[in-house]
Amino acid sequence: MEIIESAKKMSDYCQQLRTKGHTIVLVPTMGFLHKGHLSLMEAAKSHGDRIIVSVFVNPAQFGPNEDFDTYPRDMERDLGLCRDMGVSAVFTPGVEELYPQDFQTYVEVTRLPLHLCGLSRPGFFRGVTTVVSKLFHITCPHAAMFGEKDFQQLVVIRQMVRDMCMPIKIIGVPIVREEDGLAMSSRNAYLSPEQRKNALLLSQSLANARQMVSRGEKNAEKIITQTKQTLLSCPDMRIDYVSLCDPDSLDEIKQIHRPALLALAAVLGNTRLIDNCTLIP
Ligand code: AMP
Repeated sequence: MEIIESAKKMSDYCQQLRTKGHTIVLVPTMGFLHKGHLSLMEAAKSHGDRIIVSVFVNPAQFGPNEDFDTYPRDMERDLGLCRDMGVSAVFTPGVEELYPQDFQTYVEVTRLPLHLCGLSRPGFFRGVTTVVSKLFHITCPHAAMFGEKDFQQLVVIRQMVRDMCMPIKIIGVPIVREEDGLAMSSRNAYLSPEQRKNALLLSQSLANARQMVSRGEKNAEKIITQTKQTLLSCPDMRIDYVSLCDPDSLDEIKQIHRPALLALAAVLGNTRLIDNCTLIP
């Protein structure tokens, strides 16, 4: 497995793969890998014969009061996991490599970020689309994998690829959960044992909503109210948003007539957690 820090070397490596007729699948990550990331790598195998993983904690997608400095990192462990998964190369650029002193170009999807996470994290999606578009230019992948855990991110990337005519297939991968239902996330490492228990309310509130819908409930307001109530049964839980929306446009809906996205973000202590599910009437 190649470990490459330089953008130029990574680009040359990928061009060689292409010349030899290989199909490249990119799995972009911020590292501190868990089974969610590994499922992206596993799914990548059916879309190409060379898997490239990037491990880069992208400063451009963190706000000034967010956790860029404390974001969990463990490169040695990440490299071992990638090796075990049969990854061909891991791209591990430093911040200076992707954002040199005179960097001044950004890629921005304009409307989709005006929903959900984009509202409380201004600039977040601009940071994501900028770095993902750089990774796409460097690795020229045939396909790229993104988790449905970050559903809005997946929709934003799909929009960017369509708008910019990037010849890359974007593949969404279902959320991987802990046995008790908590969606896996590198940020779960921040949770105290008490918070870890309370974090279960996120997936439980989604399960309750699914049950409501299976019993025939179609009214968005009722579903959202019940979801919020479940979350707020823990006094330490702060809700950022609970939204029932169209899975393509992310526009809020009032009644569920076709599959809808129930997405939520909540804060426990200093840890912001997100989760979502599709509600099918
Ligand atoms: P991150 O390292 O958190 O930026 O995530 C890198 C990629 O892994 C993103 O496409 C995420 O959506 C995906 N991912 C993170 N957690 C999960 C999970 N629990 N299940 C599926 N995909 C995930």
